[in-house]
Amino acid sequence: MPNGEKAKEDLFIGIDLGGTKIITALVGKTGRIISRDYRQTEAAKGLDAVVARMIDAASEVMNGGGVVSAQISAVGVAAPGPIDAKSGVVTTPPNLPGWTDVPLRQLIQDGLGLPTALENDANAAALAEHRFGAGRGTEHMIYITASTGIGGGFILNGELYGGATGAAGEIGHMTILPQGPHCGCGNRGCLEALASGTAIAREARERVKCGIPTLIADLAKGDLKHISAKLVAQAAGQGDIEAQEILDEAMTYLGVGMANLVNLFNPELIVIGGGLTNMGARIFDPVRSIIQRRAFRAAAQVVRVVPAQLGDDVGVLGAAAVAMLSEKWN
Ligand SMILES: [Zn+2]
Repeated sequence: MPNGEKAKEDLFIGIDLGGTKIITALVGKTGRIISRDYRQTEAAKGLDAVVARMIDAASEVMNGGGVVSAQISAVGVAAPGPIDAKSGVVTTPPNLPGWTDVPLRQLIQDGLGLPTALENDANAAALAEHRFGAGRGTEHMIYITASTGIGGGFILNGELYGGATGAAGEIGHMTILPQGPHCGCGNRGCLEALASGTAIAREARERVKCGIPTLIADLAKGDLKHISAKLVAQAAGQGDIEAQEILDEAMTYLGVGMANLVNLFNPELIVIGGGLTNMGARIFDPVRSIIQRRAFRAAAQVVRVVPAQLGDDVGVLGAAAVAMLSEKWN
């Protein structure tokens, strides 16, 4: 497409800001990725440097797609929470040191001269799965990402539910076990502290430290640092009882959390993404059966629990979906 020519389709830029990398893409209205940019966040260089890299990445994807900024409808930024989506402020992201109450939406909007919207990364991913992935066509969908942490987002009545300040959807920080393990958020017994990849690895390390015989110790070659959820899943797959027990326990907590959500929101669909879904049936079977056992029958009967469809693109497509949503506000 020659520079300056009016785009045939509405174009958006999605910027997925993470603690270690920034992924940026030029995206069409249907979720087609036209060009991409990957770069390190280099968070240690400070806020101004990170913002400059985000703006530079946006220019790169416009160049890559052969378009200029006048052809872009809006920019969306997905940032690690917690954020205030309504004011466009990133409050205190744990993996961006030194960032406190950063008006990121305004900074990117000023830098690019384009309307910009900001959303937390998990809510953005929920929007992406709803608009382009497993949740297409649904009205009431819950998205959950289960990897090193647990996050999520709610689509209710066809729209992202933000709550009073845009902070809704912190599925990982539901208290499940009041006296349970400490969570990174300061609370105890959160779902994330019981069922995330980090929680699974921690439990496995404790058992290995206690000298309990398990294949996990062999696979880790005796080095506790090598123990990850992936390694536990590998040991479980090879028939290790301890590993199976650790995963069963974690997945029970995950199922309990989902059963609570089914009773609260009566969703038609729960979409689960994130690294733990690589375990396949070992995550989906217990979650489905616990929902059936614990949630109200009418709600349990209608809900489907399915894997996410967008894979590694979910973050940047989420950011683009946030941009598409922002058109309503501008
Ligand atoms: Zn927590």
